[in-house]
Amino acid sequence: MKGAETLFKTFFKMFNIHFHTEVGIEKMDDDKVYLTDGTALSYKFSMIMPPFVGVDFVTNSSELHATPSGYMPVGEDYRHTEYPNIWSAGLAVNFSLPWKPGSVPFFAPKTGYPSDVTGKIVAENIIRATETHKPLIKKHWGKIPAVCIMDAGKKEVIIFANHLFKPRTFAVMIPNIFYDFSKVLFEKYFLWKTKHGYSMLP
Ligand SMILES: Cc1cc2nc3c(=O)[nH]c(=O)nc-3n(C[C@H](O)[C@H](O)[C@H](O)COP(=O)(O)OP(=O)(O)OC[C@H]3O[C@@H](n4cnc5c(N)ncnc54)[C@H](O)[C@@H]3O)c2cc1C
Repeated sequence: MKGAETLFKTFFKMFNIHFHTEVGIEKMDDDKVYLTDGTALSYKFSMIMPPFVGVDFVTNSSELHATPSGYMPVGEDYRHTEYPNIWSAGLAVNFSLPWKPGSVPFFAPKTGYPSDVTGKIVAENIIRATETHKPLIKKHWGKIPAVCIMDAGKKEVIIFANHLFKPRTFAVMIPNIFYDFSKVLFEKYFLWKTKHGYSMLP
């Protein structure tokens, strides 16, 4: 997204965070993290965030032909490409990427909003396939709108775009460096919505 790199660098500078890009972690011991470019970073406390992976029962079921990360092969209708009675939503979905990962592999954003949208598509498509027999809804993951409030440590960045993946006709990032009140308000709204089962609300 336009301006994202500058914004991230500004936040990193603000929090005195040093960053290394296009380099992986080779190994770590009890006081150092060794990077693939030979750098050794000393630490007293470390938090490593591994990539998302699917759940074991998917990878254990070899007939599902999941990716090594446990993502299920589905079409744009979120129906399994081989088994019409198997559907998948959220983190479990595999989809094509419009880019090639660099030297350190990474996948695509699998956040709450597209998980919610694909869950609703699956629910509607099961009704269409079994009861109303209307054509199934199709929406590639990348065509789902980007709607996110990114937490940035008592600060936040509000992100809206018409599509998760490029090309986009609309994309905006609104940083709020003073407080994270949108995230707090959203949390209260989301819990209220979920507790009352108002799934028709965004
Ligand atoms: C640290 C962290 C921070 C995040 N922050 C954000 C954020 O700020 N905003 C945002 O939009 N997204 C965020 N996400 C991503 C968000 O959590 C996911 O996109 C979302 O939870 C995906 O929903 P899901 O239902 O597909 O999967 P999950 O929420 O992972 O649900 C999968 C469910 O399957 C269950 N399960 C697993 N194995 C089995 C089994 N064998 N049998 C039965 N059930 C099983 C699990 O218990 C779990 O309840 C964050 C994720 C992480 C890890």
